[in-house]
Amino acid sequence: MDNLKELLEKWYATEEQWNDWRWQISNRITNVDKLSQFVHLTPKEKDGIAACLKKFRMAITPYYASLIKSEDRQCPIRMQAVPNPKELVCTRGDMRDPLHEDVDSPVPGLTHRYPDRVLLLVTDCCSMYCRHCTRRRIAGQNDRSLPKAQLDRAFSYIRSNPTIRDVVISGGDPFTLADEQLEYILKKLRAIKHVEVIRFGTRTPVVLPQRITPELCNMLEKYHPVWINTHFNHPREITPASSAAVARLAKAGIPVNNQSVLLKGINDRAHIMKKLVQGLLKIRIRPYYLYQCDLSEGIGHFRTSVSTGIEIMENLRGHTSGLAVPTYVIDAPGGGGKIPIGPNYLLSQGQGKTVLRNFEGKVYLYTEPDAEEGKNTTSNLGIAGLMQSNDVILNTEEKMIIAKGS
Ligand code: SF4
Repeated sequence: MDNLKELLEKWYATEEQWNDWRWQISNRITNVDKLSQFVHLTPKEKDGIAACLKKFRMAITPYYASLIKSEDRQCPIRMQAVPNPKELVCTRGDMRDPLHEDVDSPVPGLTHRYPDRVLLLVTDCCSMYCRHCTRRRIAGQNDRSLPKAQLDRAFSYIRSNPTIRDVVISGGDPFTLADEQLEYILKKLRAIKHVEVIRFGTRTPVVLPQRITPELCNMLEKYHPVWINTHFNHPREITPASSAAVARLAKAGIPVNNQSVLLKGINDRAHIMKKLVQGLLKIRIRPYYLYQCDLSEGIGHFRTSVSTGIEIMENLRGHTSGLAVPTYVIDAPGGGGKIPIGPNYLLSQGQGKTVLRNFEGKVYLYTEPDAEEGKNTTSNLGIAGLMQSNDVILNTEEKMIIAKGS
C-alpha cells in the first residue's frame, strides 16, 4: 500500500496489526462517530446514518475504509459501505425474502431449491455489511454462527439426500469463522460420499483480504474440490492486497469466480464493468454472474433497469475475451432461481437456416442439417423433438425428463 505509513498513523496501528484479520475485525467502523473520523460527513448525513443504524447494521473494516475517497459522495466504495437513509424507504416490489430462501428451507440454515445442490448459511456475521445486501434480513442480525446442533441437523439432511452433490457454504460471510470451525464443517461434508463439490460464497477477498492466510489456504486445500465465489463490484476493489489474497487461493488450487451485482451509480456503465471484468481476469478470477439487483427491502436506490444490464452485456460480448464475460441473471423473485438474460443474437430460424447477428451488428446465415439429416443426429425429445413432430405443444412429461437431465 502506497499510503500505509499514513494509514497506520491514522489508525494508531502497527503494520503487523494492520495485516492481522482479527485486528481488522475488532477495529471495524460500526458507529457514526468513528465513521466521521475517516469519512467526511455533514451533520445531515450523520443524522441520516444514525437513523439507518436503528434498522440495519454497519461494519466497515479499516482496510475497506482505506479505499474510500473521503470527500467524494459518489465514491463507489463509500456507496457500498456507508449507510444511506434511502435504505429506510420501501420501493415498489420490495420483499423481505425475495429469493424465498426461508420458504425453501427444510432445516434451519439450509436452503434446498435446486435438485442437486444446497445452500448452507453457517453464520449471519460479515466483516463488512454491504448496503446492497440481498440477505440483509439476516446479515448482522445476531452476529453469530449457526449453532452446532443446527449444523448437525443440516449435515443429517444432506446425508439422507443422495441427490445433493454440491454444497454452497455462505452466510453472512463464512470466512468470519475461525479456521477450526470451518474445518469442522468441511470434514463433516467430506465424510458424505455423494457431496462432490464444496463451494464458498464470500466477500472476504474484497473487504478483508488479510483473512486469506496461508494457514486458511492450507486447511482448505485438504478438502478439494473446493471452489470460491467472491463479490467484486468495482475495479477500485482490485488492489495489491486483494490480488495477493486471490493469488494465495490460486496457489492452493482453489478456483475463484466472481459474482457482481449491478448497482446504480457504482458499476452501471459499460466502461466500468469492462475494466472490472478485465481486471479480474488479470488476477485469475473468472467473472461468473452479473446479478440484476434483487428486490430486497431498502435497496431500491441501487436498482437499475434491466435494459441497462442488457446494454452493458452488449458492450462486453465480442468486445472483450469471452472468458471475461459473466452471465447476466435475474434471480427470480419467489424462488424461481437464476434466469439468464441478455442481448438477442438469434434473429430468425426456420427451414434449415438460422440467422444471427454478431457483436458489430453484422448479420450472418448458418445452415443447419435439413430435417432428414437432423433427425438421426439430434434428440427427439424436448424442443428438438417438437420441431420434428406434428405436435403443437411440448408434452409435460418430456419437459420433466429434460428438467431431470435424462
Ligand atoms: S458480505 Fe455478502 S452477506 Fe455479507 S453483507 Fe455483503 S453481500 Fe451481504
